[in-house]
Order: sequence, then C-alpha cells, then structure tokens
Amino acid sequence: MQKLNKNFTKLSEVEIEEPKKEEIIKGFNKIKKELLEANSGEETNKAIKKFFSYCDNVRSIFILIQIRYTMNTKDEKYSKLRNLLDEIDPEIEKANKEVLEVILSHKYKKDIIAQYGELLFKEYELSKKTFSPEIIEDLVEENKLCSEYVELLSSALIEYKGEKYTLSQMGKFSESKDRKERKEANELKWKFFADNDAKLGQIYDSLVKVRTRIAKKLGYENFVQLGYDRMGRLDWNSKDAAEYREKIFKYIVPISKKIRAAQQARMGYEDGMKYYDLPLFYKSGNANPKGTIKDLIPIAQKMYSEMHKITAKYFNFMVEHGCLDLEARPNKAGGGYMEYIPALQTSFIFSNANGTSGDVETLTHEFGHSLQGFLGAKQVVPEYRAPGYECCEMHSMSMEFLTYPWMENFFGDKTEKFKYFHISEAINFIPYGSIVDDFQTYVYEHPELTHKQRKAYWRKIEKKFLPYKKYDNNEFLEKGGFWMCQHHIYESPFYYLDYTIAQVVALQFYIESIKKWRKTFKKYINLDLLAGTLPFRELLKAADIQNPFDGDNIKVVASKINRILKKYNPIELDK
Ligand SMILES: [Zn+2]
Repeated sequence: MQKLNKNFTKLSEVEIEEPKKEEIIKGFNKIKKELLEANSGEETNKAIKKFFSYCDNVRSIFILIQIRYTMNTKDEKYSKLRNLLDEIDPEIEKANKEVLEVILSHKYKKDIIAQYGELLFKEYELSKKTFSPEIIEDLVEENKLCSEYVELLSSALIEYKGEKYTLSQMGKFSESKDRKERKEANELKWKFFADNDAKLGQIYDSLVKVRTRIAKKLGYENFVQLGYDRMGRLDWNSKDAAEYREKIFKYIVPISKKIRAAQQARMGYEDGMKYYDLPLFYKSGNANPKGTIKDLIPIAQKMYSEMHKITAKYFNFMVEHGCLDLEARPNKAGGGYMEYIPALQTSFIFSNANGTSGDVETLTHEFGHSLQGFLGAKQVVPEYRAPGYECCEMHSMSMEFLTYPWMENFFGDKTEKFKYFHISEAINFIPYGSIVDDFQTYVYEHPELTHKQRKAYWRKIEKKFLPYKKYDNNEFLEKGGFWMCQHHIYESPFYYLDYTIAQVVALQFYIESIKKWRKTFKKYINLDLLAGTLPFRELLKAADIQNPFDGDNIKVVASKINRILKKYNPIELDK
C-alpha cells in the first residue's frame, strides 16, 4: 500500500494512488497474525502500535480521496476513487474489526490496558457492536446512497439574473438588502428542492430502510441506539437528548423569540417577517467582512500570530502548505469542514466563501477543529486524539468566540454589529439543532413513515421550536421540506445535537472570556490537549465545563447571555 510522507511541501502535490482492497486487507491480516503470535505483553503492544500507524495511513489515503472529490466532484480520477471507496470500505472495515476482536480477547489484555488505557477497550467493544460481516452489502448501499445525495446537490446550477450559481453560491443572495432579490433567490433555490422532492425523499427513505435493516441484523430494536453507538457515545443516550431538548424549549426558545421580535421591529415590514427575511439580520445589511476570502487570510494570519505561539505556528504551517481551500467554485461540494490527516500531520480546511460574515465564522470555526486535531495528535492511540463529536464542536464553536478581541481587524466599524448578530445567531441555532435531532429520532423510531408523513412531522416540530418562521405560501416548505437541504440528516445521522451541546459550552467560554480572556484561553487549550482521553461527561468535568445536560446549567447560560444581549442597542447598530 502507498505510504504517505509527512514531509510534503504543498498538499496539492501529494499524489494518491488507487487503493487496492486485497493489499490493504493483507496488511491488516499480517498485523492480526503478529498479535496472535505475540509471546509477551511487550510484543503485543508493539504490534498494536504498528496497527495504529497502519490505520493512520489507510485513513489518511481515504481522507485525501474524499478531500479531492469534494474540491471537484467532477474530477474523473477522484470521483472514480471515491466510488471505489464506497465499494471497498466495508470489507476493509471487516479486516480492521477482526484485528479489534483479537485485541479485545487477547491473552495480554492486562498489558495492553496498562499501556494504552481501558477506554480503548470500551471504544472497541462499542465499535464491535456496530459491525458484522452480515451487513457489508447494506453498508455499501448506505455509502452509495449518501454519495447520490451529495452528487444531486452539488449538480444544482441555478440560473438567476443571467448567471448560473451552485447552491452554496446562491447563499450570497439570502442576505441581500433587496427584499425582492432575497425572495426570488430563495424561491429559485427551493424550486430545485421541490423539483427533486420525490428523488430526495426516495434517497432518504432508502437510507432509513437500509439503516433499520442493519440495526435489526445487529440485534438492535431500531437504528436510534445504533446511531448513538456509531457515534461512539459512551455515557448518554436518546433519553438524555429528549430531556435536554425540552430544556432548550423552555430556556432558549423564549430568548430566540425575543431576538426575532426585535429583528421584525427593525425590519418594519407590514406583512410581517418571512422566512427569506430571517438571514438579513439588519435592515441596513449584515456586517460583512472587509474584502474577499483572499484578503481575509492575511488578517487571520496576523490574528493567530498575536493570539498564542501555538496558533501562530500552526496557522502559518497550514497556509504555507496549501491546506486551506476556501472559495466557492462550480462543482465543489457544499458546506465546510476540517479533516485531520494523521499520516501527513496536518489538517485541511474546506469551505465555500461567499463574502458574508460566514466566511470569518467558518475560518475561525474550522481552525478551532484544526488546532484540536494538531494538539490531539500527540496521543499515540488514534481513538484518543479527538473527543466525541459533541466535544469536537466545542473546540470549533468556542474558537469563534475566543477570536472576538480580533474581530475589528475583519469588520472595522461594523464589529459590534457583527458580535450582536453572532451571539444572537448562536442562540437562534440551538432550537434549530433540536429539531434536526428530534426529527431523526422520530424517523428512525418509525421507519415505516412515508415521505409525506416525515415532512408533516418536520413542520410540526418546526412550528414548536421556530414559531416565527413563516413560509409565505412556499408550498414545498409549508409542507415540511426544509430538512432535505440539511446534509447531516442524510450523511451523518444523529450528528447534530452535538452542535447545540457544543454551542451551549461555547457560550460558557464566551461569558468567561469577557473578563478573563487569557485564563479562558488556557482552559480552552487544556480541553484541546485532553482530546479524546475521556468520555463526554468525564471530559467536561476534567475541563471544568458545566454539562449542558445537567441541572440548571442551560438556564444559567441562557440568563447570562440574555443579560449580555440587553447591553446591545440593535436599532442603533442598524443605522
Ligand atoms: Zn464543526
């Protein structure tokens, strides 16, 4: 198998050869044999170390293929390789899981625990539960359906005012000051979804069905707990999630309603605020950064140089090695993400910049993930390098707030305008995240629902958590079609509540940083370094963070943020 070299100059120059399934599986089998034949704890642990670095290399090749594919979904080589991955991944997974099984029942288990810790065994147990050779074909189907969804969305080219735009590029019109333009652009965007309603519904239905089938084959009642187990959640379940969502309804929704009511008053539309008005937070226009994404990178470089020696070193490394792809282009996949590539010891940041404040938010958000990846890489055990997803998003969302002292460099005299918007949006996001989670729980608990029924359920909970959202006779949205644009619902089931948990924690970091930035940043770095060495609840305790699930913690955060918001005068900011 190709061995990646960490001494690369530019990420784009790293060539990827076609991965050969048999060869990769052979590598796993060789390690398995070594483990079985090991005659001492020392030999066993040495073989496990080999296993870790082998996994790192395989994973890195797969990640690079995904990255190249998302950079250009029409690239012949990488779309072919990506399809190949869909095919071969489940069988490679099988070979990998066989090694885990040998480790789990190893005669030198005690020595392994002494060297690598007990958490590894818990994680392997969980990972073992989520797989059986019986489900390989189903996993291939699941992968293919996800790819079909990504391709369908990235193929969208919407014609507006004589130009063609991708869905990401259409985003820029959603904050237009011209109401007619916002309405038209939104209607065109949603027309794409409405035109593909049946197709999108069918892809999702097939996903629900195949995931349910997998769950049943593995002995689960339905996909819900399997979804949690796949996410490696060791110490919370869907019951905790349901209670937490109710707390959000009780403490966060009222603040969100107030924020929207103030927005409506600023807008002053006689017919009330419609769904396409929501993204335009100020009538005078949102606070956009000074310049395009190319101008923002040097500003970010200066910010991270001043922030801390670690941020300075790592951000510069990423820029110099071409590890950022930020501008929107046709055929580029939507959204933004960060991937850590262990064999190259670097992160890669992907986004679709569109000239809005989102460009700055994505940059700081994804660099928060990157820094965690970089600091967590000190851990030898791959599983310990990054925490569960709920905690991963803490690193990124908190970074958005920890960069506040530098926001003036990006926004100039619009800085306060940006901050009030950003804090408000953090609050507004939490109820939305709850809906995504509630929806998925309901769907996977009732896999027999029709597309129409799923949509109706979505609209019902949307009305509960986002009561101010008025669809202005857009039939597709009125009937509950919004979720089809939320790619996590298709690709990463149950990965969404994580953002809301992390958002509540990020707000805690923000509140603390107002008076004591340095101390708070130290706490943040400590959380980075703890990485995935502890499960969720223990990790929060060790990092001195109040768990959003427990007691009144969410109520306390809500009331402190409410007080902060009251210090702003949005009418003044809107002038
Ligand atoms: Zn993130």
